[in-house]
Amino acid sequence: SAKVTKTDKQVQSVCPYCGVGCQVNLKVNDNKICSVEGANGPSNQGRLCVKGRFGFDYITSEQRLTEPLIRKEGIEKGVNIDPANPYSHFRKASWEEALNLAAKGFSDIKQQHGADSLAGFGSAKCSNEEAYIFQKLIRAGFGTNNVDHCTRLCHASSVAALMETIGSGAVTAPFMAAEDSDLIIIIGANPSENHPVAATFFKQAVERGTELVVMDPRAQALKQQATHMLQFTPSTDVALLNAIMHVIVDEKLYNQHYIDQHTSGFKLFATHLKDYAPEKMQSICGVTADTIKTVARKYATAKSAIIFWGMGISQHTHGTDNARCLISLALMCGHIGRPGTGLHPLRGQNNVQGASDAALIPMFYPDYKPISDCETQTFFESLWDTPLNPKEGLTVVEIMHAIHRNSIKSMYIMGENPAMSDPNLNHARAALAKLEHLVVQDIFLTETAMFADVVLPATAWPEKNGTVTNSNRQVQMGRQAVEPPGNAKADWWITHQIAQRLGLEWPYSTPKDIYHEMLLAMPSLANISWERLEQEHSVTYPCPSPKEAGHDIVFADGFPTEDGRGKFIPASFLPANDKLDTEYDFILTTGRLLEHWHTGAITRRSEVLNTLEPEAFVQMSPTDCSALKVQAGDMVCVSSRRGSINIKVRVDHKVQTGLIFIPFAYVEAAANLLTSHDLDPFGKIPEYKFSAVNVEPI
Ligand code: SF4
Repeated sequence: SAKVTKTDKQVQSVCPYCGVGCQVNLKVNDNKICSVEGANGPSNQGRLCVKGRFGFDYITSEQRLTEPLIRKEGIEKGVNIDPANPYSHFRKASWEEALNLAAKGFSDIKQQHGADSLAGFGSAKCSNEEAYIFQKLIRAGFGTNNVDHCTRLCHASSVAALMETIGSGAVTAPFMAAEDSDLIIIIGANPSENHPVAATFFKQAVERGTELVVMDPRAQALKQQATHMLQFTPSTDVALLNAIMHVIVDEKLYNQHYIDQHTSGFKLFATHLKDYAPEKMQSICGVTADTIKTVARKYATAKSAIIFWGMGISQHTHGTDNARCLISLALMCGHIGRPGTGLHPLRGQNNVQGASDAALIPMFYPDYKPISDCETQTFFESLWDTPLNPKEGLTVVEIMHAIHRNSIKSMYIMGENPAMSDPNLNHARAALAKLEHLVVQDIFLTETAMFADVVLPATAWPEKNGTVTNSNRQVQMGRQAVEPPGNAKADWWITHQIAQRLGLEWPYSTPKDIYHEMLLAMPSLANISWERLEQEHSVTYPCPSPKEAGHDIVFADGFPTEDGRGKFIPASFLPANDKLDTEYDFILTTGRLLEHWHTGAITRRSEVLNTLEPEAFVQMSPTDCSALKVQAGDMVCVSSRRGSINIKVRVDHKVQTGLIFIPFAYVEAAANLLTSHDLDPFGKIPEYKFSAVNVEPI
């Protein structure tokens, strides 16, 4: 029976989890969120998944950090601290003492070793204002561009390919555009688990007659709705996609008018595809030539078709090539800029789009203006009233390498957990332990905070105001619903305090003040004032005027490139870097779960979500389980050339023989101890989707 709880107030805000950006009504009683309902936001229309509806209890976890902490003298750094008892390794400190120590460490190291010996990781879990002020501190305060965030681990390769080909890293259409499509392609994504509310729009489209093609090495729930499920061999995306395009070129199914009007480089590109006949590629990608031809014909002849992709495309050493292929496919068929068409990389965290726009990226100022551009540098030197470093910074994994080389000595990490999310964790954790001065700002004592010298307690998403930008380019207003626990403070406030101690005088008293400066720095936010967001809750960029709605679908008349055209960039098939052999004869792929989000820092502290999926597991095919003589619930040792973990078996038909899947949310069996830190040369994203591993029964 329904339990009726009295509520003091209802606050309309945004879900803190995935990039769908569902709006929520938080029902508050006695400073506690007692229930959550879906609000009528543009991306969810009242719907929520299990995380949005039941996953807010993390904010009242007993493990919340409530006081600044300073590491006790002589205590070794590592991930072996009980997060419920930080006082075994840290002592409580006042804000004044902790902030002074944090800032002094940064300025001492800068003085001794130079600005580029410092680095910062911001967070896609924080607001736009917090991302902006963080990158400004690293650039204007530290004097370096060594600033990055989790986009490097999720869609950096997609953004690199989109910027290179169509001049814009964001989606060309929202996921609701699928409702107007004749055909949807979903590749390298599992929306039912990772973008659950977006998946409901895809299912609705199918019910109305849209055809759905799902391409992924793993099967998934959407297979039930799919007209075609192409379960291809891991890491052969380029072979498969080039074969599809070969058919379109060979049978002249491309859109010549669109190619002439809006693209460049097609002739050369078509020549490159000659080597990718489906009959030749079928043995590489494991999809029959007939199926490849059918899918190619359907996509090319559909009146409107849209492509969605996820980290199965981007998290490879050839992730940029994978995304280049998808963009070329859409360009040759003219499936961009009209209702029901588009390119949509499904973004992972709730504010990864906004944090990237605000420049938590080492090679760009806000709005993707290159660090190397002198005019842009002059603009920001004038806006921020300080000289800026013209050298591009290092990316996430490059920073870990630089620590091992002794060229980076100190880091400021806000809301990221590289001690769980980085590839090759033994290497990453050794780097964190080597830092001379590490300041971590978070809501829990994460595995990364366990390496810190100073820990600063931050506020959770429902405890502060700020804007957030979802996968659809919708800028939305997040509102404070409850007071933070103890002495926890908003991330923007903490960053501002550190800036002040580094001698920077910034005129911010509220997030709104920061947003006002962002309006000067970021033309993408034109006509989207704070006041408008307060009233309308959500406005899409680009937005033509203060009264009109923003443009959901962009690039009907060309692209923001130098010549206004989209470029075809050929990609050649290359096998994965990590090699299978007789010892390492399984392919490991990693990812998220419906109930557990990223490194589990938040969802594993949600009683509801953690009760649903309380323990780590490896998904294995029934055939592999029989061959190894293991059953569901047995323990196996999974090892790679980099590390090993012991983990429980879950028998699952969704994985093909020879492939295993491990979610990366569980510290007790951390999947990233096994993954490789090899990088895509363009997007600098690591390889999370193909690691050669050995599986042995214990
Ligand atoms: Fe939150 Fe994403 Fe679920 Fe929506 S789909 S409720 S944004 S986790």
